[in-house]
Amino acid sequence: MISLILTADLEGVTALQPTDTPENPYFYTFRVQCNSCHEVHPNWVSFNRFEQHEIPGSRGEANFVWKCRLCTQTHSASIIAGPNTVQPQDKRKGQKVIDMDCRGLEFIEFKPDGEWEAKGAESSTLFAGIDLSDGEWYDYDEKTSEEVSIKEISWDVGRT
Ligand SMILES: [Zn+2]
Repeated sequence: MISLILTADLEGVTALQPTDTPENPYFYTFRVQCNSCHEVHPNWVSFNRFEQHEIPGSRGEANFVWKCRLCTQTHSASIIAGPNTVQPQDKRKGQKVIDMDCRGLEFIEFKPDGEWEAKGAESSTLFAGIDLSDGEWYDYDEKTSEEVSIKEISWDVGRT
């Protein structure tokens, strides 16, 4: 299983997660590598957890179906768990966002180019449309009159 892991310092916010509903699916964007020939695809690839694609030559379906242009083998991946909410922590530790079942491919890098959301840690304020692509995010919680932030963001994609 391959997991997307987020490490970040959450100040004043909790329950950070991608905005990912059937009406408004989150597109997870990765760099992909072929396990057969080890070619890294030059472009980013994106997929969501709601769309299913047929896997040619099999009866199965997957969220992401990819034919490696170098070795021409077809590989696939599906999101099997998540998205989980990320909580503030005393110790800096990575937290799983999604788990994926990858067949014949490996995701090696994640790009957070979609919208995220979080809740005020001490209030009911909902923060939507959070952009994590700059590696940090700042806002203001009017209910608590405190600045809130997400900082020191790092992403990891790896076997768990
Ligand atoms: Zn290949």
